[in-house]
Amino acid sequence: MEPQKCVLYDRDCIGCMECEMCDLDPNKVCDNCGKCLDIKDYAVIKIDKIVTGRQKPKKNK
Ligand code: SF4
Ligand code: SF4
Repeated sequence: MEPQKCVLYDRDCIGCMECEMCDLDPNKVCDNCGKCLDIKDYAVIKIDKIVTGRQKPKKNK
């Protein structure tokens, strides 16, 4: 199985959990409270893909 890529650095994931930590409080794991986001009436997020129950999941190469 191919190793997962780190979302922050140019390396394979080493499970350091740095990407899970709060941007405002380095001692807190992010709980998606949204305080770091400047959310107005709407927000835009980028998603990689949508998987429905009708599709067969693609196998990683
Ligand atoms: S756990 Fe660490 S190495 Fe893995 S994606 Fe997050 S920051 Fe990168
Ligand atoms: S959503 Fe909340 S917990 Fe997560 S990084 Fe932003 S402020 Fe921190």
